[in-house]
Amino acid sequence: MLKIRVFGIHLCLTAVVLGCSTVVRAHSLGGSFFVEVASKWLEGTSLTFDFGSAPQYSSCVASHPSDIRVAFAPAAGSWSYVGTDSLRYDLDKASLNIGYASVPPPGSPNRTELEGTILHEVGHALGFDHEHQSPEAHCDQEFDWPKIYDRYGALSGWSKDKIDFNFKALVASERLWTTPYDRQSIMHYYFEPWMFKKGAASSCFIGHNEMLSATDTGLIQAAYSGAIADQNKVLQDRADTASEKLADLNLNSNQLSKIGVEIGKTLAAQNRELTLQFNLAPDQRGGPTPEISRCDTKGAVPEPK
Ligand SMILES: [Zn+2]
Repeated sequence: MLKIRVFGIHLCLTAVVLGCSTVVRAHSLGGSFFVEVASKWLEGTSLTFDFGSAPQYSSCVASHPSDIRVAFAPAAGSWSYVGTDSLRYDLDKASLNIGYASVPPPGSPNRTELEGTILHEVGHALGFDHEHQSPEAHCDQEFDWPKIYDRYGALSGWSKDKIDFNFKALVASERLWTTPYDRQSIMHYYFEPWMFKKGAASSCFIGHNEMLSATDTGLIQAAYSGAIADQNKVLQDRADTASEKLADLNLNSNQLSKIGVEIGKTLAAQNRELTLQFNLAPDQRGGPTPEISRCDTKGAVPEPK
């Protein structure tokens, strides 16, 4: 796999802190199965989930929105916001949905499939995009696009835009943390052979991935390291990236100061004592106010049924 979206300028700073905090609060509307499966992402990381106590777990409270808000609405399909987009939209509503009405019995293939779905959606919530959309995967050139738009569109009910959003390669940039293409990643869709020009011989044709791959596990541990020194390095690396982006925007000192206040608030909210070095040269000329919150706002990632 994989890539972790390094978020847009404002949110990336939130993401940085969230990523290295010790607790991600996630209210669950039910399901010890969800809690058990989702927790597989946590091994060797600095993250913990705070679901409350079994068997009820915590309910979502609109007045105190949780970072990740889990719902189980069968009709809504399975989907999740990516990373800190969960903190950005509809704080009084779910940020991740599992479209299953019940947990299939042990030994059932459907249970394994549900497990894979939960891992995939939680992967999105923790910041992972789709592996088949990695610039490293080159699946764009493998897909039989006319057939996909036509037949897959009819089967799934997805529009061309929705298909593009979930299938087309993401643009390589310093905002994406990528690994070599990982065909075992839980973030890779299974596609039927007819969706590829080369059928089952395509490099992007894979089996059904239902477990975390070694690369999935390695990247989550790198992104949310348990070692403080490593966490600080990740934070500083992302601050460096943000610095470059902010420098491109040519902000004036007043605008930079406002951003500094926001960063300080975020660090304080996460009880994080860390000084990040931002290498910025404020432009004293003033001028038009640039857009400083250029986050990807494509919305939630739905999954095919
Ligand atoms: Zn997905």
